[in-house]
Amino acid sequence: MGKYNPYDNVVSTITNAARVLGLTEDDYITEIYPERELKVSLPIRMDDGSVRVFEGYRVQHSSVRGPCKGGIRYHQDVDEDEAKALAAWMTFKCAVVNIPYGGAKGAIKVNPAELSETELERLTRRFTASILPLIGPERDIPAPDVNTDARIMGWIMDTYSTIKGYNIPGVVTGKPIEIGGSLGRKESTGRGVCITVKEILAKMDIPMKGIRIAVQGMGNVGSVAAKFLYENGASIVAVSDVSGGLYDAGGLDMDDIYKFISGRKLLSEYKDIKNSTKRIDNAGLLVCDCDILIPAALEGQITADNAGDIRAKIIVEGANGPTTYEADAILEKNNVTLVPDILANAGGVIVSYFEWVQNVQAMFWTEDEVNDRMFNLLKSSIDEVYDIHVERNVTLRTAAYVSALGRLVAARRIRGFFP
Ligand code: NAD
Repeated sequence: MGKYNPYDNVVSTITNAARVLGLTEDDYITEIYPERELKVSLPIRMDDGSVRVFEGYRVQHSSVRGPCKGGIRYHQDVDEDEAKALAAWMTFKCAVVNIPYGGAKGAIKVNPAELSETELERLTRRFTASILPLIGPERDIPAPDVNTDARIMGWIMDTYSTIKGYNIPGVVTGKPIEIGGSLGRKESTGRGVCITVKEILAKMDIPMKGIRIAVQGMGNVGSVAAKFLYENGASIVAVSDVSGGLYDAGGLDMDDIYKFISGRKLLSEYKDIKNSTKRIDNAGLLVCDCDILIPAALEGQITADNAGDIRAKIIVEGANGPTTYEADAILEKNNVTLVPDILANAGGVIVSYFEWVQNVQAMFWTEDEVNDRMFNLLKSSIDEVYDIHVERNVTLRTAAYVSALGRLVAARRIRGFFP
């Protein structure tokens, strides 16, 4: 078997939705090819005086429905195909929740844990300068993703504004509140995952109280989702990060875990665990005994090799692209209900959109306003996708792509092709 290519995965999913909609290839071919790809070399003076060159990417997948939108990832294993796939997922995510954006993604091939704070800042500023011709509030608006955060978005905003000569907060979302960030943005993706779980359980007539949930990845998405779900009465039976995970059939002591990881520590360093709590690895977490599995780390985690062993009856994708196309078919055969990434983790981009709207208007909303508007938009999208799933008798993933592709193709038909 060749190396897993996430972009092939996206193309298969789009093609499948096109078949359901009865489209010809001419109708959706523009959604198969990214509009623009930029690869940059980033020479950085390290603290010891040496020079290292890092590779970075910005891929704009589609701008047919509005400016491109998508996060920036720092990871040692990223490549162009991963950036392309992540950009395409953004296009479909923005379309399924009907916000006026296209899709993009950026990445630097780097393990940020190996860099000092000052090296990380120089790398971020150099990357911003290198992709500067492509980004801007009306063109392409980055945001946080794996291993990037508000602090890094602040450096991007400052570099862009300094070079342009005036303050442009709308160039990036997920910024610190002090320089134009939105209340509620930091928690929005995890909050959206929690809303999705609640809405899906309500549709399936399953009570939330005591439901057993396993979460892979305790970063921005996974840790916040687990926190809200725990506060809503769920029992979090398993969590993990890159160093491994913990399992407790009776429910983990989440208050204690949060106290521990708030110092940015890894779960493998968490020693003071209860007798009933066992250590598991990430492969074990995916197949552990639970009702709901929330992959919230990286793509390509649920594959043809482990999909058949998954015991959860519901999967809610917090991460982008955690399930391969082949695994989808196995899960469907096994009657696993899977809520796809482009819907389940869309709370983040919805609030990024609100941050951008607030920046453009120079008017700020209260946290309740942000959360209420996000809930309304996400809930109506979940309802719409669920209705398509029932009416057309297709999986929730196909239903989400049917909804999104319908909007993208309609916009393309109206705009036509240039020249
Ligand atoms: P993050 O860097 O905050 O956290 C990632 C977590 O995954 C960490 O706990 C890390 O230790 C863990 N991890 C990394 N490699 C792993 C591995 N091989 N096995 C298990 N765990 C591993 O990143 P994040 O922002 O929480 O993003 C997680 C996922 O959610 C990504 O797929 C991202 O694209 C997606 N996402 C993020 C946002 C956002 O707003 N941050 C929005 C939508 C989707």
